Amino acid sequence: MKPEQRLQSQITTFLRQNDYFIIKTQSGPGTDIGTPDIITIDKHGKFLGLEIKRPDGQGTVSAEQKAVGAQIKRNGGLWYVIDSFTRFLEVIDDVEKLF
Ligand SMILES: [Mg+2]
Repeated sequence: MKPEQRLQSQITTFLRQNDYFIIKTQSGPGTDIGTPDIITIDKHGKFLGLEIKRPDGQGTVSAEQKAVGAQIKRNGGLWYVIDSFTRFLEVIDDVEKLF
């Protein structure tokens, strides 16, 4: 399993164990370019889009991904780029503090 896939798997496992609604999107036909890798809604109804990048810092965020992220935020959702499980836990902690 590639490092980015392993990170995605860690994150989806955590979210499922903590009762988040979750969609793990699949890239390819039928999925709009730029769609976040993981779409989740927490127990307060907060929409959270997560764009996962490889943990070595070499991943780049595409223009389409940035555009989708901006649209999510304009509509009141949250969008983050995640490149480590530590960063993911920080984000979840910040999101929970919003309530
Ligand atoms: Mg990705």
